[in-house]
Amino acid sequence: MSKQKILIVGAGISGLSTAWMIDKSKYDITIMAAKFSPDITSNRAAAFWFPYHIRNDHRGIRWCNESYEAYKAFSHNKDTGVSMQVLTKGLRKGIEDGEKNWVDFLPEGISKMLSPQDTSPEYDIVYEVTVPLIETQLFLPWMMHQLKALGVAFLQEKIDSLSTYTNSYDIVFNCSALGSRMLCNDDTIIPVRGQVGLLSPHQASASFYLDNETPLYIVPRQDAIIIGGTYEENITTDNTEPDTIHRLLENAYMVFPALRKLEVIGSWAGLRPVRPTVRVEREHGTNIIHNYGHGGSGFTLSFGTAKEAVSLI
Ligand SMILES: Cc1cc2nc3c(=O)[nH]c(=O)nc-3n(C[C@H](O)[C@H](O)[C@H](O)COP(=O)(O)OP(=O)(O)OC[C@H]3O[C@@H](n4cnc5c(N)ncnc54)[C@H](O)[C@@H]3O)c2cc1C
Repeated sequence: MSKQKILIVGAGISGLSTAWMIDKSKYDITIMAAKFSPDITSNRAAAFWFPYHIRNDHRGIRWCNESYEAYKAFSHNKDTGVSMQVLTKGLRKGIEDGEKNWVDFLPEGISKMLSPQDTSPEYDIVYEVTVPLIETQLFLPWMMHQLKALGVAFLQEKIDSLSTYTNSYDIVFNCSALGSRMLCNDDTIIPVRGQVGLLSPHQASASFYLDNETPLYIVPRQDAIIIGGTYEENITTDNTEPDTIHRLLENAYMVFPALRKLEVIGSWAGLRPVRPTVRVEREHGTNIIHNYGHGGSGFTLSFGTAKEAVSLI
């Protein structure tokens, strides 16, 4: 019997993780995208596993947990660029933390609260959380390479309509993120720009850190220390602004003064595909399955949302 044909529109983490979760012995898969790594938002993520702006959605708990386990498994293979790292998550005094329920989204046993004598006085609470760090510059090419080896085809094309492909493919997955504004007429999905500064890589100058202020995050990777970040709604250009990058760096220098000695090697920005809720559903009466709108948590949710999307085939 010949295999059924599946088209996945989008080659970011949502599209790649969807392809990963499909049984390749049963389906022929093509990934079609206007752009591929490194020219997509998914490359601009730091990226670490952390539930961010998803906590109003109880489905997120399952998605986060399933993705956590997937990345933990990848971390056993150094080639993936995924590693398990201890993140210090500080909640600064005097700042309302609208994110109190983040602990509910963590797998059991991965976080511990530090005692006040082990933390600086400007913090209310400090946690240490062991989470996956996904070095996007390594992980995305690795995924593409693995998928190609498993027979997945990659085509570069910008499409105007999903329905063009619903006759020639048995199933069409829509993993086009902000592309869904046009492809689905969905104006609930908006771009939210994140800018980051890059310092030369030097593991001893800082550790992996996140606070609740801006938020400020510091992510030591092999290619750079990433200092983030901004959350700028409805900005449609992915450029960086020197004043903003300067401010982000100054915030980081206050937490880890040794960073000031490092060279600033660049900056970048990406547009998060933010939607009130992530859309994972089969469009009624069609063979289109949507998997988009992951906002600032695309990596954190990816393998969980992909598993759910694939279950709708
Ligand atoms: C600065 C920054 C830091 C971040 N840090 C983190 C983090 O630490 N952890 C985390 O979990 N998340 C993080 N994120 C969020 C994460 O990057 C996104 O949620 C994720 O990349 C979304 O992936 P995606 O595959 O849905 O979209 P994208 O990566 O945008 O991919 C969309 C794909 O669809 C294709 N496409 C769109 N329209 C069309 C069309 N008409 N025809 C054909 N193809 C089309 C594109 O070419 C592309 O291939 C961060 C984001 C930014 C900007």
